[in-house]
Amino acid sequence: MLYTYSDTEYAPEKCSLCNGAGYTDGKICEACGGQGNVLVAQPAIICPLCGGSGNLDTGTCKACGGSGWALFR
Ligand SMILES: [Zn+2]
Ligand SMILES: [Zn+2]
Repeated sequence: MLYTYSDTEYAPEKCSLCNGAGYTDGKICEACGGQGNVLVAQPAIICPLCGGSGNLDTGTCKACGGSGWALFR
């Protein structure tokens, strides 16, 4: 299902930080808020900073919030 806001379409994509589970280490996933997926502008673009992993050597990727997707364009 696609959600349309103005001229941009969004669709849920699997959260990379929790791998779709909705939680990490027994806590609600900070990237998706426990949903297991995140709304991403279509066509979905993998976050260029972390390469879609949601994690960097320095911690959770700030650009995508850990979701692994480029949330905005
Ligand atoms: Zn998540
Ligand atoms: Zn990222």
